[in-house]
Amino acid sequence: MQSNRVWIAVFLVTTFLVSPPVKAQKSATPNGPAWQRANDLVKKLTLDEKLQFILSKYPSNADPGGGGGYIEGVSRLHIPDVNIADSATGSGSATQSSSTFPATIALAASWDRQLSYDYGKEIAIQLRAQGFAMGLGGGTNLARESRGGRSFEYLGEDPLLAGELLAQRTKGTQGQNVMASIKHFAGNEQETNRMGGNSLIDERTLRELYLLPFEIAVEEGQPASVMCSYNRLNGEYACENSVLLTDILKTQWHFLGQIQSDWGATHTTAKAINAGLDEEEGSDAGPSYFARVPVLFALANHDVTQDRIDDMVRRKLYAMIASGVMDDPPRGGEKIDFDAARKLAQSAEEQSIVLLKNDRQQLPLPPSRLKRIAVIGSHADVAVMSGGGSGDTMHPVTGSFQGCEGLEFVDHNGCGWWRNPWLKIPVPLTKAIQELSPQSEVKFSGVRDEQAPFRAYSPGEIADAVALARESDVAIVVVAQPAGEDFGDLKTLSLQNPSNQNELVDAVATANPHTIVVIESGNPILMPWKDKVAAIIEAWYPGEAGGKALANVLFGKVDPSGKLPFTFPLRNEDTPTWGDTGVLSKDPVYSEKLNMGYRWYDAKKIAPLFEFGYGLSYTHFTYSDLSVKRDTDRTLHVSFSVKNDGTVAGAEVPQVYLGIDYAGEPPLRLGDWSKIQLNPGEAQKVNIVISPRTQSIWDTSANDWRVIPDAVVYVGASSRDIRLKER
Ligand code: BGC
Repeated sequence: MQSNRVWIAVFLVTTFLVSPPVKAQKSATPNGPAWQRANDLVKKLTLDEKLQFILSKYPSNADPGGGGGYIEGVSRLHIPDVNIADSATGSGSATQSSSTFPATIALAASWDRQLSYDYGKEIAIQLRAQGFAMGLGGGTNLARESRGGRSFEYLGEDPLLAGELLAQRTKGTQGQNVMASIKHFAGNEQETNRMGGNSLIDERTLRELYLLPFEIAVEEGQPASVMCSYNRLNGEYACENSVLLTDILKTQWHFLGQIQSDWGATHTTAKAINAGLDEEEGSDAGPSYFARVPVLFALANHDVTQDRIDDMVRRKLYAMIASGVMDDPPRGGEKIDFDAARKLAQSAEEQSIVLLKNDRQQLPLPPSRLKRIAVIGSHADVAVMSGGGSGDTMHPVTGSFQGCEGLEFVDHNGCGWWRNPWLKIPVPLTKAIQELSPQSEVKFSGVRDEQAPFRAYSPGEIADAVALARESDVAIVVVAQPAGEDFGDLKTLSLQNPSNQNELVDAVATANPHTIVVIESGNPILMPWKDKVAAIIEAWYPGEAGGKALANVLFGKVDPSGKLPFTFPLRNEDTPTWGDTGVLSKDPVYSEKLNMGYRWYDAKKIAPLFEFGYGLSYTHFTYSDLSVKRDTDRTLHVSFSVKNDGTVAGAEVPQVYLGIDYAGEPPLRLGDWSKIQLNPGEAQKVNIVISPRTQSIWDTSANDWRVIPDAVVYVGASSRDIRLKER
């Protein structure tokens, strides 16, 4: 974060899967010991001390540095400071070195609950070591807008997938005594006009899609904090929307933690406080509405009550106690084991890579048969490790944003608070390939221009790439689609930076039929060259160990098992938000209602390029023996067998979809999934329990979920590769 930045009833049931990797949760009962203790502390605080807890100071404390702000504790009562840092893809400290993990969207592509837990845990270990007690990494706005700049730090287009993974991530973080915040609540599905946009979303759509990941994460993960978003939701700013903050989150979902604003998302004092906002995050620009003077004024005028101020403070203290921060605050200044973290970064990437195409078993590559390998593309070795904005990280080796020193904030391609992930140290794919294929001659062709990482390929550079491809046995072309926060929405899904990457791929594929395209993106991309290339891999923003992970997948050391967490459309025009002009709306109207993501393509019968849930493997899985049992309480028990009938070990993500027969419902919704590891010839019975809520619609007149009985059960390897059907 830099100073020049523009600041811009529920069924209490859960969806269980085989063995969720969870540590026991700390007390979360209202009136339980943690709540009582918080209440006792509130009674001992003076009014001035109380006011310390409702406004964060910016920037972070000098020690530790580089966070987004801090809440000053009260030493006489042994209440520690809470230093706050972003943590989407790693700790976001702007002054301390942190590991860069694959982007959060990669985590979603792994469909792996345990991995999500481990990811949240490892990042929390680094946050603590740096002195941070709160991590802001829990982004879960849905990928309604395929061009959304922050898609890389969210969890895809399905609310169940996103919510379940976020719950695990939250548990992993809080298991380390670090407060987790989930964000951005709610309706913040794009960056265009992010400070002022008004998202218009009908109630049923809101509940069934956009609020559901938050509801699941609150229920199962019990986060310390929920961050309300910049945008307006149905006319009211999210951070002063009493229906959202108080009626839904605090009352219906029984959320006991604190609600914090996004940075600069508070617009009023009394209105926001009375709507349910507990903490304003201060910035260096604009007034602070929760500062001492305006709050005392509001109290004096009876615009807010002392009880409500006490409630705000109690919630903060409760969140600190329940997450372990109160009794075990981070000390900071601790050594981070970057090597151990890099191992997790590599394995996370290996579990997330999605194999999209593999003609004639082009992959895995046979090292002994390859004399010459061409690695092409500017970002092959200087990878796009993350998206831009607060979701980016520092790098352990450089400790600074290499190449950014002294540069002003300019645009996508420049440096500034929108950290430039491309200018960090290389992720050497070429070297990793050479290591796995020592007898091959591995040559690189591309632009390595750190000052202009997105410069278009010149005709000469394309000619060089083509010449290299022609003399090689295989050509691996790495393409990238940078995107990020704030001004980072894409205009099109076509590859943009460098602008002529499609031309490069096309030319290389013409020269060599064994062309493999590797994509580094946080969004779906269009692939005009799809039929011309032999294999395609989606690597996401692969994190700091991306080179090794990719090489391992290319050579079959690891079987690819990632599945798409969002749809890849064939054309921009096929997406629900493109409209007539393709211009992103400043005040988005969610007129497609429940038909978002794969639901849209299914309902409109539009063939996607690659569907939600899709991903190939080097082995093959067969599905059999579906059995469905319905409990009287409407819980659904689905079981079936999956067998690896190929020749290599691999992981499969069997997915259960439900067909709910009710007006407005799309043909299919995800009901649950599993991720299983199978050796060749091995079979496993998969048991899945689906909660009543997952079979429900939101009934606006009852203001509650309503189960729609007799959902049709489908089991598949993707949303369109259905292998078993109940009836
Ligand atoms: C972003 C948040 C982030 C905060 C602090 C805001 O601009 O929207 O996601 O946590 O800054 O950096």
